[in-house]
Amino acid sequence: MTAVLNRLSLMMCAASLIATRPLHTQVPSPSVSVGFGVDTSITDVRNVVSLVRAYLAKPDSSARSRGIWSSTTEFDRRIGDVTAGQANQGFPATVVGVISDGPGDSVYVVKILYARADSARGIAPLALQRLYAVREAGAPYAFRLASALPRITRNWERRSKGHITFWYVPGHKPNPAKIDRAARFVDSVAKLFSVPPPQHLEVYVGDSMDEVQRMIGLDFFPESSGPGQRGGGLNLGSILLVGNPAIGEDYLHEFVHAVLGPSLPAGSKLLSEGVATWLGGSRGRTTREMFALLRSYQQADSTLSFPALVRQGFNVPDADRGTNLLYATGALIVDAVHRKNGIAGVRRIYQLRTDPNAMLRSISIELGVPPDDAALDRWWRTEAARASSR
Ligand SMILES: [Zn+2]
Repeated sequence: MTAVLNRLSLMMCAASLIATRPLHTQVPSPSVSVGFGVDTSITDVRNVVSLVRAYLAKPDSSARSRGIWSSTTEFDRRIGDVTAGQANQGFPATVVGVISDGPGDSVYVVKILYARADSARGIAPLALQRLYAVREAGAPYAFRLASALPRITRNWERRSKGHITFWYVPGHKPNPAKIDRAARFVDSVAKLFSVPPPQHLEVYVGDSMDEVQRMIGLDFFPESSGPGQRGGGLNLGSILLVGNPAIGEDYLHEFVHAVLGPSLPAGSKLLSEGVATWLGGSRGRTTREMFALLRSYQQADSTLSFPALVRQGFNVPDADRGTNLLYATGALIVDAVHRKNGIAGVRRIYQLRTDPNAMLRSISIELGVPPDDAALDRWWRTEAARASSR
């Protein structure tokens, strides 16, 4: 379950999944069963189930070259299965529905449940995924699979500005001021880091994670429980899903990942999230609010240690607090390095790809702080106090 939970904690950070797809290697399902009502004595149903079996044996982009995935829409040609990074994690799959999508027999909605079950722990569902099976001439099983997103969003209201097109869940009103801010921000981040602006970003704006996950064909995917844990959305590279009404179009943190991701590969989570939080805040909080939050964590717990957190990968009992500690600490480092060494210094630490001890040494050199734990810890506390009162 660790990988699943890692993905979960990634998802709940507004920052969420970082930059470019594929996010994780898709893992085949060890078995594909059929559920109630899926009658494989019907030719179309049997063909679609065979198609799903062929796909889930190798659920990756090769599905297009193998003739299993449709290339009728631009989205299916370019992206393919946008849900695979989440749904295809090696869980047993059950086809729970092959249902006609409107009159005729040319398109079916295919519902697939990914879940583990055993008598001791009961059922642990990972995802309920919705794909489409479209009848196409020459297809190996008479049908090819296709993504939900282009079908669902076909008639949605949209607005384009600069490098971004925003798509709106029905009933969600565009906010022109936020659209302008987002378009300007994307250009400014590209300029600051001297990287080309993204060719094009598609941003889907809704009011909840459920809503934005449904539009890509994930009818269920676990979200972290408890108060204050709501995610901001999902970053699928050139496609961003915004599922937090407090954020809307100007999902600045994610735009940082989307701009830098293709040109400037990040070395560590600490500093890639640090740069995104430094420029774009996190989960509806401004950068300064993140510094104040870090300060409050430090004041509440004198045993918190910056080098120890780095060595443990910021794994603290409360995942929400761990995420905030990671993001705010990263932003604090980036902010201090920027003031001392400019954007060249920020680029250097952003691309650092090394073990925690070597990273702490490089950070101390960049900050001009002695490379011992006590000095780094003092710097962390003093700097957070200063930054949060600026
Ligand atoms: Zn992020």
